[in-house]
Amino acid sequence: MIEFLNLKKINAVHYKEIIEAITRVVDSGWYIMGEEVRKFEKHFAQYVGCKHCIGVANGLDALTLILRGYKELGVITDGDEVIVPANTYIATILSISENNLKPVLVEPDIKTYNIAPIDIEKKITDKTKAIMPVHLFGQCADMDPINNLAQKYNLKIIEDSAQAHGAIYMGKKAGCLGDASGFSFYPGKNLGALGDGGAVTTNDDDLAETIRAIGNYGSQKKYYNDYRGVNSRLDEIQAAILNVKLKYIDFENKKRNELANYYLDHIQNEKIIMPFVAEYGTHAWHLFVIRTNRRNHFQKYLYNHQVQTMTHYPVPPYKQKAYHKYWRGEYPISDQIHNTICSLPLNQMNEKAEIQFITNLINTYAG
Ligand SMILES: *Cc1c(COP(=O)(O)O)cnc(C)c1O
Repeated sequence: MIEFLNLKKINAVHYKEIIEAITRVVDSGWYIMGEEVRKFEKHFAQYVGCKHCIGVANGLDALTLILRGYKELGVITDGDEVIVPANTYIATILSISENNLKPVLVEPDIKTYNIAPIDIEKKITDKTKAIMPVHLFGQCADMDPINNLAQKYNLKIIEDSAQAHGAIYMGKKAGCLGDASGFSFYPGKNLGALGDGGAVTTNDDDLAETIRAIGNYGSQKKYYNDYRGVNSRLDEIQAAILNVKLKYIDFENKKRNELANYYLDHIQNEKIIMPFVAEYGTHAWHLFVIRTNRRNHFQKYLYNHQVQTMTHYPVPPYKQKAYHKYWRGEYPISDQIHNTICSLPLNQMNEKAEIQFITNLINTYAG
Protein backbone atom coordinates (compact mmCIF):
# COMPACT_ATOMS: atom_id res chain seq x y z
CA MET A 1 0.00 0.00 0.00
CA ILE A 2 1.28 3.48 -0.83
CA GLU A 3 0.20 5.30 2.32
CA PHE A 4 -1.16 8.83 2.12
CA LEU A 5 1.28 10.02 4.76
CA ASN A 6 3.74 8.15 6.95
CA LEU A 7 4.94 10.42 9.75
CA LYS A 8 7.36 7.84 11.09
CA LYS A 9 9.22 7.90 7.76
CA ILE A 10 9.15 11.69 7.62
CA ASN A 11 10.80 11.98 11.04
CA ALA A 12 13.10 8.95 10.70
CA VAL A 13 15.49 10.86 8.43
CA HIS A 14 16.10 13.30 11.30
CA TYR A 15 16.04 10.62 13.99
CA LYS A 16 19.49 11.22 15.45
CA GLU A 17 19.18 15.00 15.56
CA ILE A 18 15.67 14.83 17.05
CA ILE A 19 16.77 12.49 19.84
CA GLU A 20 19.76 14.75 20.54
CA ALA A 21 17.50 17.78 20.68
CA ILE A 22 15.05 16.12 23.07
CA THR A 23 17.90 14.89 25.26
CA ARG A 24 19.33 18.41 25.38
CA VAL A 25 16.02 19.71 26.74
CA VAL A 26 15.60 16.89 29.24
CA ASP A 27 19.14 17.48 30.52
CA SER A 28 18.68 21.26 30.71
CA GLY A 29 16.02 21.02 33.43
CA TRP A 30 14.18 23.95 31.76
CA TYR A 31 10.95 22.91 29.98
CA ILE A 32 8.84 26.00 29.35
CA MET A 33 9.95 29.18 27.53
CA GLY A 34 13.67 28.54 27.47
CA GLU A 35 16.52 28.74 25.00
CA GLU A 36 14.99 26.42 22.39
CA VAL A 37 11.79 28.47 22.11
CA ARG A 38 13.78 31.72 21.92
CA LYS A 39 16.02 30.25 19.22
CA PHE A 40 13.09 28.93 17.21
CA GLU A 41 11.21 32.22 17.42
CA LYS A 42 14.26 34.08 16.18
CA HIS A 43 14.98 31.70 13.30
CA PHE A 44 11.38 31.25 12.22
CA ALA A 45 10.89 35.05 12.15
CA GLN A 46 14.00 35.25 9.95
CA TYR A 47 12.74 32.42 7.77
CA VAL A 48 9.40 34.13 7.19
CA GLY A 49 11.02 37.55 6.83
CA CYS A 50 9.08 39.08 9.67
CA LYS A 51 10.06 41.07 12.77
CA HIS A 52 8.33 38.96 15.44
CA CYS A 53 7.53 35.31 15.98
CA ILE A 54 5.65 34.18 19.08
CA GLY A 55 5.51 30.45 19.77
CA VAL A 56 2.07 29.23 20.90
CA ALA A 57 0.45 25.89 21.68
CA ASN A 58 -1.08 25.16 18.24
CA GLY A 59 -2.30 26.71 15.01
CA LEU A 60 -5.84 27.33 16.21
CA ASP A 61 -4.48 29.26 19.20
CA ALA A 62 -2.22 31.29 16.91
CA LEU A 63 -5.25 32.54 14.95
CA THR A 64 -7.40 32.96 18.08
CA LEU A 65 -4.69 34.94 19.87
CA ILE A 66 -4.20 37.32 16.93
CA LEU A 67 -7.89 38.28 17.04
CA ARG A 68 -7.81 38.44 20.84
CA GLY A 69 -4.75 40.69 20.63
CA TYR A 70 -6.56 43.08 18.28
CA LYS A 71 -9.50 43.11 20.69
CA GLU A 72 -7.26 44.01 23.63
CA LEU A 73 -5.70 46.76 21.50
CA GLY A 74 -9.17 48.15 20.75
CA VAL A 75 -8.92 47.50 17.00
CA ILE A 76 -11.74 44.92 17.00
CA THR A 77 -14.74 44.61 19.35
CA ASP A 78 -17.33 41.93 20.14
CA GLY A 79 -19.81 41.45 17.29
CA ASP A 80 -17.50 42.74 14.55
CA GLU A 81 -17.25 40.84 11.28
CA VAL A 82 -14.29 38.95 9.87
CA ILE A 83 -14.24 37.81 6.25
CA VAL A 84 -13.00 34.28 5.64
CA PRO A 85 -13.11 31.78 2.73
CA ALA A 86 -16.18 29.48 2.84
CA ASN A 87 -14.09 26.37 2.09
CA THR A 88 -11.46 26.73 4.81
CA TYR A 89 -10.58 24.21 7.49
CA ILE A 90 -12.81 24.68 10.54
CA ALA A 91 -9.99 26.15 12.69
CA THR A 92 -10.05 29.50 10.86
CA ILE A 93 -13.77 29.86 11.58
CA LEU A 94 -13.43 28.69 15.20
CA SER A 95 -10.80 31.35 15.93
CA ILE A 96 -13.35 34.00 14.90
CA SER A 97 -16.42 32.72 16.72
CA GLU A 98 -14.36 31.97 19.84
CA ASN A 99 -13.66 35.72 20.02
CA ASN A 100 -17.38 36.64 19.80
CA LEU A 101 -16.85 37.84 16.25
CA LYS A 102 -18.86 36.94 13.20
CA PRO A 103 -17.25 34.88 10.43
CA VAL A 104 -18.53 36.14 7.06
CA LEU A 105 -18.03 33.56 4.33
CA VAL A 106 -16.76 34.41 0.86
CA GLU A 107 -16.59 31.90 -1.97
CA PRO A 108 -13.21 30.65 -3.21
CA ASP A 109 -11.83 30.93 -6.70
CA ILE A 110 -12.60 27.68 -8.55
CA LYS A 111 -9.05 27.44 -9.91
CA THR A 112 -6.85 28.19 -6.87
CA TYR A 113 -9.42 27.17 -4.16
CA ASN A 114 -8.39 30.33 -2.29
CA ILE A 115 -10.67 33.23 -1.36
CA ALA A 116 -11.80 35.07 -4.51
CA PRO A 117 -10.72 38.72 -4.11
CA ILE A 118 -13.46 39.97 -6.45
CA ASP A 119 -16.16 38.55 -4.17
CA ILE A 120 -14.84 40.14 -0.97
CA GLU A 121 -15.86 43.77 -1.44
CA LYS A 122 -19.61 43.12 -1.58
CA LYS A 123 -19.40 41.43 1.84
CA ILE A 124 -17.70 44.40 3.52
CA THR A 125 -19.98 46.29 5.95
CA ASP A 126 -19.45 48.93 8.67
CA LYS A 127 -18.75 46.06 11.05
CA THR A 128 -16.02 44.39 8.98
CA LYS A 129 -12.68 44.69 10.75
CA ALA A 130 -10.50 42.02 9.22
CA ILE A 131 -10.02 39.57 6.35
CA MET A 132 -8.49 36.16 7.02
CA PRO A 133 -7.16 34.71 3.76
CA VAL A 134 -6.14 31.05 4.04
CA HIS A 135 -3.23 29.81 1.93
CA LEU A 136 -5.08 26.57 1.34
CA PHE A 137 -3.21 23.38 0.34
CA GLY A 138 0.06 25.35 0.32
CA GLN A 139 -0.59 28.04 -2.28
CA CYS A 140 -0.85 31.68 -1.25
CA ALA A 141 -4.11 33.51 -1.69
CA ASP A 142 -3.95 36.42 -4.17
CA MET A 143 -2.82 38.97 -1.58
CA ASP A 144 -2.35 42.19 -3.60
CA PRO A 145 -6.05 42.83 -4.27
CA ILE A 146 -6.83 41.76 -0.69
CA ASN A 147 -4.31 44.21 0.74
CA ASN A 148 -5.74 46.93 -1.50
CA LEU A 149 -9.19 46.34 -0.01
CA ALA A 150 -7.65 46.44 3.46
CA GLN A 151 -6.21 49.89 2.75
CA LYS A 152 -9.43 51.16 1.23
CA TYR A 153 -11.62 50.00 4.14
CA ASN A 154 -9.04 50.10 6.95
CA LEU A 155 -9.11 46.36 7.67
CA LYS A 156 -6.56 44.06 9.25
CA ILE A 157 -5.26 41.16 7.15
CA ILE A 158 -4.67 37.98 9.13
CA GLU A 159 -3.17 35.11 7.14
CA ASP A 160 -3.89 31.50 7.98
CA SER A 161 -0.52 30.08 6.94
CA ALA A 162 -1.01 26.68 8.62
CA GLN A 163 -0.58 24.88 5.28
CA ALA A 164 1.92 27.19 3.64
CA HIS A 165 5.33 27.13 5.38
CA GLY A 166 7.76 28.43 2.79
CA ALA A 167 5.20 29.33 0.11
CA ILE A 168 6.03 32.55 -1.74
CA TYR A 169 3.81 35.31 -3.11
CA MET A 170 5.46 37.95 -5.33
CA GLY A 171 8.85 37.28 -3.73
CA LYS A 172 7.63 37.36 -0.11
CA LYS A 173 6.90 34.40 2.14
CA ALA A 174 3.53 33.41 3.55
CA GLY A 175 3.46 34.79 7.07
CA CYS A 176 4.52 38.32 6.17
CA LEU A 177 1.94 39.14 3.52
CA GLY A 178 -0.52 40.91 5.82
CA ASP A 179 -0.66 42.35 9.36
CA ALA A 180 -0.28 39.06 11.23
CA SER A 181 -0.20 35.37 10.47
CA GLY A 182 -0.92 32.10 12.25
CA PHE A 183 1.16 28.95 11.66
CA SER A 184 0.55 25.38 12.81
CA PHE A 185 3.27 22.80 13.48
CA TYR A 186 0.82 19.91 13.74
CA PRO A 187 2.83 16.76 12.86
CA GLY A 188 1.34 16.44 9.36
CA LYS A 189 2.14 20.00 8.26
CA ASN A 190 5.14 20.79 6.02
CA LEU A 191 7.00 21.91 9.14
CA GLY A 192 5.69 19.52 11.76
CA ALA A 193 6.52 18.98 15.42
CA LEU A 194 6.10 15.67 17.25
CA GLY A 195 3.02 16.97 18.97
CA ASP A 196 1.10 20.24 18.88
CA GLY A 197 2.74 23.57 18.19
CA GLY A 198 2.01 26.90 16.54
CA ALA A 199 3.29 30.43 16.03
CA VAL A 200 2.19 33.95 15.28
CA THR A 201 4.33 36.09 12.98
CA THR A 202 3.89 39.85 12.65
CA ASN A 203 5.76 43.12 12.12
CA ASP A 204 3.47 44.89 14.60
CA ASP A 205 5.36 45.55 17.89
CA ASP A 206 2.23 46.26 19.97
CA LEU A 207 0.38 43.21 18.70
CA ALA A 208 3.39 40.97 19.31
CA GLU A 209 3.79 42.18 22.87
CA THR A 210 0.07 41.81 23.58
CA ILE A 211 -0.14 38.27 22.17
CA ARG A 212 2.96 37.22 24.06
CA ALA A 213 1.31 38.37 27.28
CA ILE A 214 -2.15 36.90 26.58
CA GLY A 215 -0.64 33.50 25.77
CA ASN A 216 1.19 33.54 29.09
CA TYR A 217 -1.72 34.15 31.51
CA GLY A 218 -1.99 37.77 30.42
CA SER A 219 1.24 38.44 32.18
CA GLN A 220 4.32 40.40 31.09
CA LYS A 221 5.87 40.29 34.53
CA LYS A 222 5.55 37.08 36.53
CA TYR A 223 2.53 37.13 38.89
CA TYR A 224 1.25 40.48 37.50
CA ASN A 225 -1.67 40.05 35.07
CA ASP A 226 -2.58 42.77 32.58
CA TYR A 227 -5.09 40.66 30.63
CA ARG A 228 -7.38 37.74 31.40
CA GLY A 229 -5.02 35.55 29.48
CA VAL A 230 -4.74 31.90 28.58
CA ASN A 231 -1.98 29.33 28.75
CA SER A 232 -0.85 28.83 25.16
CA ARG A 233 2.88 28.35 24.81
CA LEU A 234 5.14 26.38 22.50
CA ASP A 235 6.80 23.55 24.46
CA GLU A 236 10.56 23.65 24.83
CA ILE A 237 10.82 20.07 23.54
CA GLN A 238 8.70 20.81 20.46
CA ALA A 239 10.75 23.96 19.81
CA ALA A 240 13.96 21.90 20.00
CA ILE A 241 12.53 19.47 17.42
CA LEU A 242 11.37 22.34 15.22
CA ASN A 243 14.87 23.86 15.40
CA VAL A 244 16.13 20.64 13.79
CA LYS A 245 13.39 20.45 11.16
CA LEU A 246 13.46 24.14 10.20
CA LYS A 247 16.93 23.58 8.72
CA TYR A 248 15.46 21.12 6.20
CA ILE A 249 12.15 22.74 5.28
CA ASP A 250 13.39 24.32 2.04
CA PHE A 251 15.05 21.08 0.92
CA GLU A 252 11.91 19.09 1.78
CA ASN A 253 9.60 21.58 0.05
CA LYS A 254 11.84 21.36 -3.03
CA LYS A 255 11.41 17.59 -3.01
CA ARG A 256 7.62 18.00 -2.78
CA ASN A 257 7.79 20.44 -5.69
CA GLU A 258 9.74 18.02 -7.89
CA LEU A 259 7.22 15.24 -7.26
CA ALA A 260 4.28 17.61 -7.76
CA ASN A 261 5.77 18.66 -11.09
CA TYR A 262 5.93 15.03 -12.11
CA TYR A 263 2.20 14.68 -11.44
CA LEU A 264 1.49 17.96 -13.22
CA ASP A 265 3.52 17.01 -16.30
CA HIS A 266 2.39 13.40 -16.59
CA ILE A 267 -1.18 12.96 -15.36
CA GLN A 268 -3.37 13.11 -18.44
CA ASN A 269 -6.97 12.14 -18.01
CA GLU A 270 -9.96 14.25 -19.00
CA LYS A 271 -11.79 12.99 -15.93
CA ILE A 272 -9.26 14.67 -13.67
CA ILE A 273 -8.91 18.40 -12.99
CA MET A 274 -5.33 19.15 -11.97
CA PRO A 275 -4.22 21.78 -9.43
CA PHE A 276 -3.68 25.27 -10.83
CA VAL A 277 -0.42 26.97 -9.92
CA ALA A 278 -0.82 30.74 -10.07
CA GLU A 279 2.05 32.65 -11.69
CA TYR A 280 2.32 35.02 -8.71
CA GLY A 281 4.27 32.64 -6.48
CA THR A 282 5.42 29.19 -5.48
CA HIS A 283 3.33 26.35 -4.07
CA ALA A 284 4.44 24.62 -0.83
CA TRP A 285 2.46 21.51 -1.87
CA HIS A 286 1.14 20.74 1.59
CA LEU A 287 -1.48 18.82 -0.34
CA PHE A 288 -1.76 17.79 -3.99
CA VAL A 289 -5.47 18.14 -4.64
CA ILE A 290 -7.19 17.06 -7.84
CA ARG A 291 -10.90 17.14 -8.63
CA THR A 292 -13.03 14.49 -10.23
CA ASN A 293 -16.80 14.07 -10.54
CA ARG A 294 -17.05 10.51 -9.25
CA ARG A 295 -14.76 11.04 -6.28
CA ASN A 296 -15.75 7.96 -4.28
CA HIS A 297 -15.41 5.77 -7.32
CA PHE A 298 -11.98 7.24 -8.08
CA GLN A 299 -10.77 6.82 -4.51
CA LYS A 300 -11.97 3.23 -4.42
CA TYR A 301 -10.21 2.54 -7.72
CA LEU A 302 -6.90 3.82 -6.36
CA TYR A 303 -7.40 2.01 -3.06
CA ASN A 304 -8.02 -1.26 -4.86
CA HIS A 305 -4.67 -0.67 -6.56
CA GLN A 306 -2.94 -0.07 -3.21
CA VAL A 307 -2.97 3.73 -3.20
CA GLN A 308 -4.41 5.59 -0.22
CA THR A 309 -5.96 9.03 -0.81
CA MET A 310 -7.73 11.54 1.45
CA THR A 311 -10.40 14.23 1.17
CA HIS A 312 -9.54 17.71 2.51
CA TYR A 313 -12.29 18.28 3.46
CA PRO A 314 -15.48 16.29 2.98
CA VAL A 315 -17.81 18.76 4.78
CA PRO A 316 -17.58 22.56 4.47
CA PRO A 317 -17.84 24.70 7.64
CA TYR A 318 -21.35 25.92 6.77
CA LYS A 319 -22.63 22.33 6.72
CA GLN A 320 -21.09 21.35 10.05
CA LYS A 321 -23.41 20.58 12.95
CA ALA A 322 -21.37 22.97 15.12
CA TYR A 323 -22.62 25.87 12.94
CA HIS A 324 -26.14 24.63 12.26
CA LYS A 325 -28.21 27.50 10.74
CA TYR A 326 -25.42 29.97 11.47
CA TRP A 327 -25.16 31.19 7.86
CA ARG A 328 -28.05 31.59 5.45
CA GLY A 329 -26.18 31.93 2.14
CA GLU A 330 -25.53 29.42 -0.59
CA TYR A 331 -21.98 28.52 -1.51
CA PRO A 332 -22.17 26.63 -4.81
CA ILE A 333 -18.47 26.95 -5.65
CA SER A 334 -17.42 25.63 -2.24
CA ASP A 335 -20.00 22.85 -2.59
CA GLN A 336 -18.57 21.91 -5.96
CA ILE A 337 -15.02 21.87 -4.54
CA HIS A 338 -15.97 19.86 -1.46
CA ASN A 339 -17.86 17.33 -3.57
CA THR A 340 -15.06 16.67 -6.05
CA ILE A 341 -11.66 17.16 -4.35
CA CYS A 342 -9.27 14.33 -3.62
CA SER A 343 -5.74 14.57 -2.17
CA LEU A 344 -3.11 12.31 -3.75
CA PRO A 345 -0.07 11.06 -1.80
CA LEU A 346 2.67 13.68 -1.96
CA ASN A 347 5.42 14.37 0.53
CA GLN A 348 9.20 14.55 0.64
CA MET A 349 9.53 10.84 1.48
CA ASN A 350 7.64 9.57 -1.57
CA GLU A 351 9.81 7.76 -4.10
CA LYS A 352 9.63 8.92 -7.70
CA ALA A 353 8.60 5.34 -8.58
CA GLU A 354 5.56 5.67 -6.30
CA ILE A 355 4.51 8.91 -7.95
CA GLN A 356 5.01 7.28 -11.38
CA PHE A 357 2.93 4.28 -10.32
CA ILE A 358 0.08 6.53 -9.12
CA THR A 359 0.32 8.61 -12.29
CA ASN A 360 0.02 5.52 -14.49
CA LEU A 361 -2.96 4.32 -12.50
CA ILE A 362 -4.71 7.65 -12.90
CA ASN A 363 -3.95 7.76 -16.60
CA THR A 364 -5.69 4.42 -17.08
CA TYR A 365 -8.69 5.37 -14.90
CA ALA A 366 -11.75 5.12 -17.13
CA GLY A 367 -14.19 6.98 -14.84
C1 LIG B 1 -3.93 22.69 10.60
C2 LIG B 1 -4.68 23.92 10.33
C3 LIG B 1 -5.05 24.82 11.36
C4 LIG B 1 -4.94 24.49 12.82
O1 LIG B 1 -3.74 24.06 13.28
P1 LIG B 1 -3.65 23.18 14.63
O2 LIG B 1 -2.20 23.26 14.96
O3 LIG B 1 -4.11 21.81 14.28
O4 LIG B 1 -4.50 23.83 15.65
C5 LIG B 1 -5.62 26.01 11.00
N1 LIG B 1 -5.88 26.32 9.73
C6 LIG B 1 -5.59 25.48 8.72
C7 LIG B 1 -5.89 25.90 7.31
C8 LIG B 1 -4.99 24.26 8.98
O5 LIG B 1 -4.72 23.42 7.97
